[in-house]
Amino acid sequence: DASLGGEFLTLMKWADSVRKLKVRTNADTPKDSAKAVEFGAEGIGLCRTEHMFFEDNRIFVMRRMILSRSVEDRKKALDQLMPMQKKDFIGIFKAMGSRPVTIRLLDPPLHEFLPSEKADIEKLALEMEVPYSRLKETVFELKEVNPMLGHRGCRLAVTYPEIYEMQVRAIMEAAAELKQKENQEVIPEIMIPLVGEVKEFEYVKELAENVIKEVFEDYDVTVPYLIGTMIEIPRATIIADEIAKGAEFFSFGTNDLTQMTYGFSRDDAGRFIKEYREKGILEKDPFQQIDRKGVGELMKMAIERGQQTRKDIKLGICGEHGGEPNSVEFCHMIGLDYVSCSPFRVPIARLAAAQAALKYS
Ligand code: PEP
Ligand code: MG
Repeated sequence: DASLGGEFLTLMKWADSVRKLKVRTNADTPKDSAKAVEFGAEGIGLCRTEHMFFEDNRIFVMRRMILSRSVEDRKKALDQLMPMQKKDFIGIFKAMGSRPVTIRLLDPPLHEFLPSEKADIEKLALEMEVPYSRLKETVFELKEVNPMLGHRGCRLAVTYPEIYEMQVRAIMEAAAELKQKENQEVIPEIMIPLVGEVKEFEYVKELAENVIKEVFEDYDVTVPYLIGTMIEIPRATIIADEIAKGAEFFSFGTNDLTQMTYGFSRDDAGRFIKEYREKGILEKDPFQQIDRKGVGELMKMAIERGQQTRKDIKLGICGEHGGEPNSVEFCHMIGLDYVSCSPFRVPIARLAAAQAALKYS
C-alpha cells in the first residue's frame, strides 16, 4: 500500500539509491499509469493497445475493418478509430509526464475481433451492404485453429498495414500536439510485437517512419522517438544481431518466449504444470520464474548478439517475469536497463532490484 507512508517510503528510498535496474510498468490506461507512478514506476515498459479496441462501440468499427475486402473501406473505419486512439495516448502521456512510454502496436489474436453471434454477423452484413452468407464465409476463413501461433502481432501489419499506420499516426500526433499546445516533451517508444524475421521488422519500421514523416510535416514540428521490438519468438533471439541493425531497443516478452521455448500453451499449461511440480518433473513454473536453462539462455544470447551490432541497445523485459523477484535478479545479472511489471508489483521489483545490486556488487 503506497499510502503506508513512513517506513514504506524510507525502505523504498533506500532501495532506489542502491538499484541499477530501472522499474517501469505495464499499463494501458491513464488511471493505471497514474497508479503506477504513485508506486514509483519510472516509465511505461508496455502499453498494450488491444483493450482500447474493445471500449465503447469501437469493436463494431474494428470488425467492419477486419472483414472488409476493400482498402478504402478499411481506411474509412480506421479514420473513425484514429481520434479515439489519439485521445487514449494523450491521456497516458499526460499521466506519465516526461517519463518514457513504450507503446506496443496491436497484437491480438485476430479471432478476438471476429463476430461469433449470428445476430452480430447479420447486423454487420446489413451495415456493410454485403450478403449475410458471404460475410459468414469471410468470418469462417479468418478463424484459426491455433490463434496464439497465428495471425497476430506484426503479421497483422503485413496483411493489414493500415492498422499500424493508424496507430503510429495516433501516437505521433498525440506527442506532437502535446509539444505544441502544452510544451510537454514526450519520447514515444514504438514497439513492434512478435518479430521472428528481420524483414518483418524492417517492413513495419519503414511503414512507421513514412507515417512519422507525414505527421511532422502536418504539424510542422518534430518529436524524438524510438523504434524497437519485442523479443518473444525464439528465432528472434537467434537473429538478434540482424534485428539490432534497425531496432533501438529490445523488450523481452517472456510470456510468449516461455510458451514457444517449452512448447507449453500459456493459456492451458496450468492444467498440468501443477502436477509436473508435485511429481518433481518441473521444479518451477517457467511462466512464473525465468528458467535460466531455457528462456534465460535465449535472453543472454539475444543480448550478446544484439550488442554486437548496437553496443548501446536499450534492453528491457515486459513479460510477467518482470515483477518476480528471482527473475528481477536474473535481469540485473544479464545487464538489462529496466524491468516492467504491473503497477502493484512495482514496489516489489524496486526492492528485488536493490537486493540484486547488493548481492552482485
Ligand atoms: C509477452 O509475451 O511476454 C508479452 C509481454 O506480451 P503479451 O503478454 O501481451 O503477449
Ligand atoms: Mg507477447
